[in-house]
Amino acid sequence: MTRRRQIYEGKAKILYEGPEPGTIIQYFKDDATAFNAQKKGTISGKGVLNNRISEHLFTLLATIGIPTHFIRRLNMREQLVRQVEIVPIEVVVRNVVAGSLAKRFGLEEGTALPRTILEYYYKDDALGDPLITDEHIAAFGWASQEEMHDIADMAIRVNDFMAGLFAGVGIRLVDFKLEFGRLFDGDFSRIILADEISPDGCRLWDMKTNEKLDKDRFRRDLGGEVEAYQEVARRLGLVPEGDDSAVLDLEEHRKTRGK
Ligand code: 5GP
Repeated sequence: MTRRRQIYEGKAKILYEGPEPGTIIQYFKDDATAFNAQKKGTISGKGVLNNRISEHLFTLLATIGIPTHFIRRLNMREQLVRQVEIVPIEVVVRNVVAGSLAKRFGLEEGTALPRTILEYYYKDDALGDPLITDEHIAAFGWASQEEMHDIADMAIRVNDFMAGLFAGVGIRLVDFKLEFGRLFDGDFSRIILADEISPDGCRLWDMKTNEKLDKDRFRRDLGGEVEAYQEVARRLGLVPEGDDSAVLDLEEHRKTRGK
């Protein structure tokens, strides 16, 4: 077997060259970071769950006409995606006050917002992903006005769809982060949804108990991270009833047994 070429290693994923030109393999790690990587840890089994949850959400989003980079899941931890040029902007969609919004304006977490808020952050770890406006995006040329129009439009459609999907399984979609990329076709490019959508980049609260079912369990030392991610997968119908083994990571299992 030939060794695959690693393109990039991020905080939660590794990207490898794909089998065909224009494709990439996304490998989902168990590593977890928070507060701009000042807090580090591992959530055993997280990568497997995020791979499956993200596959599910991207597949559903494609059915409502959102173009995405997702091609297919390859195995427990890997998925094949289209190679894109990532737009250096994190798009945060908020339905309910939480996290940095609560902090910035001294608002109480859990208050429903009168309208959905879209925020943009510049993707730069060294700067701690600063909050930016359309003015910065235009002035520094991070994306064109047409691209930002497509991005905002898609972000709102993704939010409408996902808020309904999660509400149907008793989960409140508080906020989440999206990333977009440019897919090139000759001299032209179009914007498609990229990266992942998983409890790592969403706030998901149980509607009845307000229990957090996302990475805030890790950020705030609440414990039970894997159980929370598993619960999200279960409610989305991704774990067969009474079969927890479906989320077992066989690849890791074999490695630890040295086979
Ligand atoms: P906040 O700005 O309140 O910290 O985050 C808003 C939402 O975006 C949360 O759901 C959070 O998980 C997500 N988010 C913001 N920045 C990042 C990031 O750098 N990585 C990940 N995985 N999620 C992020």
